[in-house]
Amino acid sequence: MAESAEASSRPMNDDRWQGGWHRAAVRRDSPNFGPRPAGALIDLIVLHSISLPPGQYGGDAVAALFTNTLDWEAHPYFQSIRGLQVSAHFFIRRDGVLWQFVDVGQRAWHAGVSCYRGRVQCNDDSIGIELEGLEGDTFTPAQYATLVQLCTDLAQHYPVAHIAGHEHIAPGRKRDPGPGFDWPHLEQQLAWSHACFPRPAGG
Ligand SMILES: [Zn+2]
Repeated sequence: MAESAEASSRPMNDDRWQGGWHRAAVRRDSPNFGPRPAGALIDLIVLHSISLPPGQYGGDAVAALFTNTLDWEAHPYFQSIRGLQVSAHFFIRRDGVLWQFVDVGQRAWHAGVSCYRGRVQCNDDSIGIELEGLEGDTFTPAQYATLVQLCTDLAQHYPVAHIAGHEHIAPGRKRDPGPGFDWPHLEQQLAWSHACFPRPAGG
């Protein structure tokens, strides 16, 4: 949520942030990023779910994927994503631990072909947060707690005005975080304007 235009130009060195890196996150640098377009208005948070292999929690395969160190031979499923180069800014484990892969000021590779709030190529001006999970599965209280704190901290430094799922910015192509994600709970916890949250399909 943007409090004002100057929110985005506020100094980034405080107790929560060091530049575009969150101090509470375990830093795991990904090479999969690039510069944002000049003047990008970082006003969108995109939520995802991921686990590798799908439905197996607690391992390190997602971090390996995001850092281009995944052993493609380690599991049959990995053959289907062989060579994939992707990233997100953040990953929230089932136990609530926060990992960060890309500086928020840089463009991470999580959205793909996408359109939201009238703008395409959402990677340009969004922040990607992955929740360890699976489409259809629910998420843990620890994950919601970390997510709420992270979104709050992001909104203090970026002009965040929208939060949506991958399923909302790439409908028909993507379905994460999926029906197990509790949007009303997030909205109640964040207490941001209702207009910040995704509308039901057709709404
Ligand atoms: Zn996604």
